[in-house]
Amino acid sequence: MRVSKLFGKTLRDDPADAEVASHRLMLKAGMIHQAAAGIYSYLPLAWRSLRKIEQIIREEMDVAGGQEVRLSALQPRELWDASGRTEILGPQLFQLEDRRDRPLVLAPTHEELLLTMVKANVHSYRDLPMILYQIQTKFRDEPRPRAGLMRVREFDMKDAYSFDIDEDGLDVAYQAMVRAYRKIYARCGLDAIMVEADSGAIGGKDSHEFVLLADSGEDTVLLCEACGYAANAERAAFTKPPLPEEEPLPLEEVHTPGVTTIDGLAEFLGISAAKTFKAVFYMADGEFVFVAIRGDLDVNEVKLRNALAASELRLATPAEVESAGIVAGSASPVGLSGVRTVVDDSVHLGSNFVVGANRHDYHLRNANYPRDFKADMVADIALAEDGYICPSCDSRLKARRGIEVGHVFKLGTRYSEPFGAYFPDADGNDRPIIMGCYGIGVGRMLAAAIEQHHDDKGIKFPAPIAPYHASLVALNVADPEVVACAEDVYARLGEAGIEVLYDDRSETAGVKFNDADLLGLPLRIVVSARNLAQDAVEVKGRSESVAAAVPKADIVDRVREMLSGSYPQEAER
Ligand code: ATP
Ligand code: MG
Repeated sequence: MRVSKLFGKTLRDDPADAEVASHRLMLKAGMIHQAAAGIYSYLPLAWRSLRKIEQIIREEMDVAGGQEVRLSALQPRELWDASGRTEILGPQLFQLEDRRDRPLVLAPTHEELLLTMVKANVHSYRDLPMILYQIQTKFRDEPRPRAGLMRVREFDMKDAYSFDIDEDGLDVAYQAMVRAYRKIYARCGLDAIMVEADSGAIGGKDSHEFVLLADSGEDTVLLCEACGYAANAERAAFTKPPLPEEEPLPLEEVHTPGVTTIDGLAEFLGISAAKTFKAVFYMADGEFVFVAIRGDLDVNEVKLRNALAASELRLATPAEVESAGIVAGSASPVGLSGVRTVVDDSVHLGSNFVVGANRHDYHLRNANYPRDFKADMVADIALAEDGYICPSCDSRLKARRGIEVGHVFKLGTRYSEPFGAYFPDADGNDRPIIMGCYGIGVGRMLAAAIEQHHDDKGIKFPAPIAPYHASLVALNVADPEVVACAEDVYARLGEAGIEVLYDDRSETAGVKFNDADLLGLPLRIVVSARNLAQDAVEVKGRSESVAAAVPKADIVDRVREMLSGSYPQEAER
């Protein structure tokens, strides 16, 4: 491709409002165009790269035994009503009506529709197991689209679904998908780690995410370098440090003038925050919930939402707290009645806690559970943080930011039961199909790849997903010898199947080099009068600082050789 003809212009200056590197660099390199918040179109460079990512995914899905299908994005809403997800997804679901006022949705994922197809086509256990997948556009009205292709409202996803007769079969499919995912990321040049993920209130089965560590990521993961434990913060467990055993003492009120925070309370009484129990107030599906947790810990809202089996959870407003009869700043689980109460299991790891007295400027010492207060539920609802103790060994956890690029999930019978996707087993008994689902965001993969591979000059594309293999820069196109050589190199590389982006513009060397670095193809080939004097051209890898002079005649072989090392095929780590 000739740069003079390429659709898409590079920008000299950094675009405004692009807070993460991948967004800034893709805009600057002329790869994407924004239509509205979280809605992007791809220009040729981005589209070539995305198609390469898709192809790698497709090949590995096929190796794992998947069959490619393509489901409609436009769907009748009744499918979503049937699974209960119209309500669960709420405003996330794009809805519309056709000309006959029939409600439709733009699908955010495809379990529902696929199950109706499976139901029509699976008549016996002999039709199973089976893995179906597609690479297709999803629509989600995200509350906060951000960071270019990272979180958008229309995006391409590879979604695969496995169908098995039993849990053992599901395990096999899950492992095959995990292997395929590892290969996909490695082949794309991405260093993804697999972490335990939250599986939501429904199911409670295995779920893992694949995460690229990057400071710009929205997710937090907790990692143990000693034993390899890795989990999304939404789900991460940790060992809560116990407090020394004490004899329970009688409950006693203390005057704490002006004290309304845990830190203030600990300081005022000269105790550690772990000796206190704090209260946090939530609304779970419209119901007020009193949550109590040891003062040194914080609430993990995902764990709490799962414990309550709530679909919507938010902090209560001051007015809601007041109307529940609670004195904020001195709230107490002691004497509470008629309010749903959830207490973190850290309540078992200590005694004689200081809690609120539900009276301004007063607290209670020596509160002990269950002697002094009750709970509707005691559960682990605590947030794991950097430096906390690993749940599977005694080392410290490290918290890192990351980008979720894939998700594998054991669904079990969550969707097959409501959709009546049953099959007759060998004895003729009807059994629900056991399902798994497996997603990879294609555009987010590209964005994440750029997050992981760039420097201050621009992108450093991993070769397998680069839009082209090499930039060919002709310096001074007014020189007919330079042009003749560049055209010859371009033609020969093209014949050899090497994808070249040929900068044939009459721009200065500075502009051309900057653009080549910005787009960051794996190799840069320079044709200049100076090198031609030695009958050579210059070749340099994007990460190398020094170029090598290569005899013109050897250029194809040398480029092949330099590229051959950049295609990881094996991913077993
Ligand atoms: P997130 O937690 O980031 O919202 P999710 O759990 O809703 O993602 P899944 O339904 O598991 O996402 O989707 C599978 C994959 O699709 C994700 O791992 C991610 O790579 C991609 N993806 C999900 N939502 C978006 C989005 N809004 N924009 C771009 N890619 C997305
Ligand atoms: Mg997910």
